[in-house]
Amino acid sequence: MAAGWRDVVRDPAAVRDAAAVAVDAALLAGVLMRTGEQPHSSDVVNYAPFTLLPSAVPRALFEQAYAVQQDFNLLVDTISQNKGFLEQTLASTIKVDDFTARLFRIYMQVLEEGLAQTVFLGINRSDYMFDCGVDGTTALKQIEINTIAASFGGLTSRTADVHGLVLKVLGKTKEASRLLPNNPAEGLALGIAKAWELYGSQSAVVMFLVEEIQRNIFDQRCVENELWKRNIQVIRRRFRDVFEKGSLDDSRRLYIDGQEVAVVYYREGYVPQVYDQQNWEARLLLERSRAVKCPDIATQLAGTKKVQQELSRPGTLEKLLPGHPEAVARMRATFAGLYSLDEGEEGDKIAAKAIADPERFVLKPQREGGGNNLYGEELRQVLEKIKDSPERTSYILMDKIKPQPALNYLLRAHSPLQVSECISELGIFGVYVRQGQELVLNEAVGHLLRTKAIEHADGGVAAGVAVLDTPYLV
Ligand code: ADP
Ligand code: MG
Repeated sequence: MAAGWRDVVRDPAAVRDAAAVAVDAALLAGVLMRTGEQPHSSDVVNYAPFTLLPSAVPRALFEQAYAVQQDFNLLVDTISQNKGFLEQTLASTIKVDDFTARLFRIYMQVLEEGLAQTVFLGINRSDYMFDCGVDGTTALKQIEINTIAASFGGLTSRTADVHGLVLKVLGKTKEASRLLPNNPAEGLALGIAKAWELYGSQSAVVMFLVEEIQRNIFDQRCVENELWKRNIQVIRRRFRDVFEKGSLDDSRRLYIDGQEVAVVYYREGYVPQVYDQQNWEARLLLERSRAVKCPDIATQLAGTKKVQQELSRPGTLEKLLPGHPEAVARMRATFAGLYSLDEGEEGDKIAAKAIADPERFVLKPQREGGGNNLYGEELRQVLEKIKDSPERTSYILMDKIKPQPALNYLLRAHSPLQVSECISELGIFGVYVRQGQELVLNEAVGHLLRTKAIEHADGGVAAGVAVLDTPYLV
């Protein structure tokens, strides 16, 4: 913990007062979520969970994360155009993982038909933890890159003000003034607006492809409102709406309810459960269209855990990005140990190692959204069961990152105020736009700090585990 907060934890009365101020400030600032009881209505809302205090983040690691973001944008975009790499990398996975296989089939199908899309928009978030070595040094280690539906760029733009007020209430005016402004939503909208402009039809709209249950709608509204500010019309539709009312014209322009769609921004579509047959058909229709998909299906595949693991192999980055040795070095410096569980000697060896020492690893399937990874004893049991079956190849293994915990208070509606030992995960939002072969925009546009109690191995904010936070650079 930042040395400055220790006195706070020792003063329960001040903490209680500050927490009351914090909750009201969050509500006023719009750090909001719909409730679990009424996820379809904004009549009653809660504040989104957040920390009472900003968390200490080493300045050098924070700057390192920003400095490598354009490299990761370039890398993701490059992979999305490399059919051979995606085919080879995902070959073993799609034999056993039905979800990845179905995405891959759509990918191949649209390539065979020929892409109608000529403008490409990537919005991703590269997530990191601060690994603490035995000698006490900390290192920036990438957890994953989210290439679809990376969220909280809206709500997080409002937490710095809340934390600034809390610090002032606690008598820390100088510290409050050091919190950084942060507005990812504005940057995401900038990318969407650029893609919309290059698509080149004034009357076309931006379509947010949203979930059936929309608890996190306010986060999305932040981006929507930034687009409306630019006089770009936004509509919200679900896969079901696209199935029922979406169509393509002769030049594969996408229409829904009589409106042409320039950009499809997915905030849905990354978990198998949402796809029934009709929704798969809707996804195919969108992918076949000329509309700018954020992400297109190739970019979604570029964000799989299997791709991440193959990128860590010596030589892979160099092959994908020849002529970019500095970018390659910056990215590689953030990689944790990642291991293939493909059939063969390499996979056998690492599986045996993980069974013998499960605390050293995380076992990850090809899934997004939190709560899917396996740790400790559960990791051991599952790996023991599948170690001799092809099912093994649907997972990858990763070294477990071990950050230094710090004390904080996780503020959640209807939960008691108590101090917790916490660890944080830093995300950097990246945005890029490509027209044909030319990258016309490539930027890092903001950050997200999420913090959770150490007793939870896995899970993000939407999963109810982590909460929103603000970095306090030290
Ligand atoms: P998802 O796609 O489900 O978000 P992640 O790879 O981000 O999958 O993992 C989910 C969570 O699990 C992370 O937010 C982090 O808290 C934890 N986690 C993932 N990988 C590691 C790791 N290598 N070491 C420690 N914790 C990890
Ligand atoms: Mg994640």
